[in-house]
Amino acid sequence: MTNLMWDAFSMGSQDNQFRSPARVDGADLRERNLAVVLHDLLFAQPTSRSEIADRTGLAKASLTGLIPELEALGLAVEASTSKPAAGRPSKLLTFDGKQLAVVICEVSETEIITESLDLTGRILRVDREPHKAKLGDVETVVKVMANTIQQHRESIANNGSRPIHMVLVVGAAVRGEKPIVLQSKELGWNGPVDLVGLMEARIPQMRDSISLVSGVNVAAKAEFEALKRLRLGYPKSVVYLKPDTGISSAIILDGNLLVGAQGMSPILAHIEVDSNGEICDCGRRGCLVAQVGPRKVLELAGLGSQITESGLQGALQVFVDNLKNGDEAAVEASRKIRKQLNKFAETLALLYDPDFIVLGGYWAEIFEILELNSEDLTRRPNFFQTVEGYVEQDGRSVFRPAAFGARAARVGALQEVFIRVLNRPLMLKDNGMVPALGPIAEGPTYIW
Ligand SMILES: [Zn+2]
Repeated sequence: MTNLMWDAFSMGSQDNQFRSPARVDGADLRERNLAVVLHDLLFAQPTSRSEIADRTGLAKASLTGLIPELEALGLAVEASTSKPAAGRPSKLLTFDGKQLAVVICEVSETEIITESLDLTGRILRVDREPHKAKLGDVETVVKVMANTIQQHRESIANNGSRPIHMVLVVGAAVRGEKPIVLQSKELGWNGPVDLVGLMEARIPQMRDSISLVSGVNVAAKAEFEALKRLRLGYPKSVVYLKPDTGISSAIILDGNLLVGAQGMSPILAHIEVDSNGEICDCGRRGCLVAQVGPRKVLELAGLGSQITESGLQGALQVFVDNLKNGDEAAVEASRKIRKQLNKFAETLALLYDPDFIVLGGYWAEIFEILELNSEDLTRRPNFFQTVEGYVEQDGRSVFRPAAFGARAARVGALQEVFIRVLNRPLMLKDNGMVPALGPIAEGPTYIW
């Protein structure tokens, strides 16, 4: 499981031309060279100094200076020794990062999930706990998060590692240069909340190294990387959908998160899929979320009362189990999900022309049952069929289940931290930490 992410990083090493970071000026040169070596290590580890020199074009003499520096930063380690049939044995290097930890704390409607991971993607500790906060009670949520994070910091220290960053993940829109939660429907936060500021007050040791991200945004980026790994061709446009309290969405266009002027992902759940459908909370009729949002699906499956009993997520789990057991009402509800998602895909084809529509949350779990990729329904309208000489493209949006499932946002959050370390390894010098990530859409993207 934990290696999935690193497979993504090393994917394509054979068939992708290595490209070094574009920006170079004098002061950056050393750091740039360190970054080049780091990227090369990820592609080709374990590897020898002479192989690194061959692939990167860096002089062996400069590697002699760079590699000890990466070792001192905790980013490279001599793993083994190769013993060629002839000639001297050479020491082999691998990417390290085992002593560098990132704490990721994801808050949802009912619970908080906290993961500490090292930079190889290995999970050091996981906690999952209900926050028991009433709607609108920011203080309780912050307190529970901070307590758990402190415990994780202790575990990391006991493990001989050090925390280099902390990411707070919310299922809400975040906004600003130093992002704040704009509002959170699921937590009942009706106005802006400076979650990072509140956390820094409780954990001053991590000041300026705490970030806030919108879960769906980083999840979409993680899923995009996973799609790249599948070698289905470079996906130009990917839409990520996740049913949670409503239906969250994010779009990756040409490898970048697509956001509006306020830095937020387009909300696709209010696209109309049935002109005669249900009245939506937004006042319109037949929006995707009104038709097959989690609450509506549970209602259709006869599980409306289950929500009060076991919460929304618990009720959805019952729905998934019922569906897998062939429960009639659940099957009927799943047919509606299929129909409306296919309708949705038709409209999306006109808006973003996605290669893939990736389904997260419980939709990933029931993906096979949904049988979404039926050719007739997802075919894009072909306006150009009469134009002479026009070669029709494949023309289909393909639905796919999320590769990282429920962990997608946490994996994506770690990737955001990781890519910054790769590009700017010297930020870790003298026990330095990774500075706050800023708006995710403006952050660096992967260079391979
Ligand atoms: Zn609506």
